[in-house]
Order: sequence, then C-alpha cells, then structure tokens
Amino acid sequence: MERKCPECGTVLHGREDKVYCSDQCRFQRHNRNKRRSEKTILDINKVLRKNRRILQGLNPIGLTSVRREVLDSQGFDFDFYTHQYITQKGNYYYFCYDFGYAYADQEKVNVVTWQAYMNRNLKRFQIEPPGEGI
Ligand SMILES: [Zn+2]
Repeated sequence: MERKCPECGTVLHGREDKVYCSDQCRFQRHNRNKRRSEKTILDINKVLRKNRRILQGLNPIGLTSVRREVLDSQGFDFDFYTHQYITQKGNYYYFCYDFGYAYADQEKVNVVTWQAYMNRNLKRFQIEPPGEGI
C-alpha cells in the first residue's frame, strides 16, 4: 500500500517506519502541534483569569452569597476552575486560583477567598490567600 507524508502528501519510499518525507515536514508538523497546544493553554488561562476577576469583583470578605445568574451575566464559565477544596462536611469549593465558589442551592453560590487553613489539604505548594482591598 502506498504511504504518504501526512504533512505534504508526498509518496514515501524506503524504510517502513518513515513517517514524513523530510525533516522539514516533520518540524512543520511538530511546530503546528506545539502552536495548537500553546493556544489551548492560553485560551483556558484566559477563561480562568476572567472567572477569577468576576469572583474578585464580587468582593467576598470571607464569604458572599450571590445568585448564579449574576455570575452568568458577567460571563462566568462554570466549566473551568483550577482546583477544588473539599470541606470536612464533604462540600466542594471550586477555585479559580485564590477565589472560589460552592453551590449553595439551585440558584445561589457562595463565593469565598482562599483561606490559610485550606493549605493543609495541598501537597505541592501553599497558596497565598488574597490580600484585603485588592
Ligand atoms: Zn512531506
């Protein structure tokens, strides 16, 4: 069966394990995949930063309760968060960096800031709770 270079379509000759016709095609494919990965990371970071900004804008001092539609109307995306904190009662807080939220009921969420005691659950590093008046 005829094999073709996946980058430019040139028919391949020679070794069976040869995938690309040339180094140039191999590099081109590699670079395109890398750009795609970088774009994915940047796009997701953008969503996370926006989520954080929205939570921060609600200015939770300890804890604030808001209707979900308030977050929705500002473009908050509930699909994206950086990590979770699970309380002793088994409730989940979803954090976007140092600001987070928990579902209070169908319509409301509790918005919180990262607290120093939450660091006990972390393995990798300690997260600095956000300062006041930021
Ligand atoms: Zn090629």
